[in-house]
Amino acid sequence: MNRVKKDDTVRVISGKDAGKEGRVVHVYPKQERVMVEGVNRVTKHQRQQRTRTGAQQGGIVHEEAPIHLSNVMPVCPSCGNAARVGAKVVSGKRQRVCRKCDSEF
Ligand SMILES: [Zn+2]
Repeated sequence: MNRVKKDDTVRVISGKDAGKEGRVVHVYPKQERVMVEGVNRVTKHQRQQRTRTGAQQGGIVHEEAPIHLSNVMPVCPSCGNAARVGAKVVSGKRQRVCRKCDSEF
């Protein structure tokens, strides 16, 4: 089971965005990366492109880039801490638990 799911709030624990919190907008399980709102914004210098619908603006664009799972920790909705995640089985299903307050999420 993934430690982080879409729509979780996560805290960034390393890198240039350390300390920031954001909502997970996408999970890339194979790359073990997550896209987090407002985190890991990168500046791209883009060449002007022509598409079928017309000319696309070139120039400098800011967009978010996926960040590695090891650099984020989920924020527990019950206790508000960035917490390590445990697992336990509840009625046959694996459930994530906060290691700090033991609540399931
Ligand atoms: Zn908790």
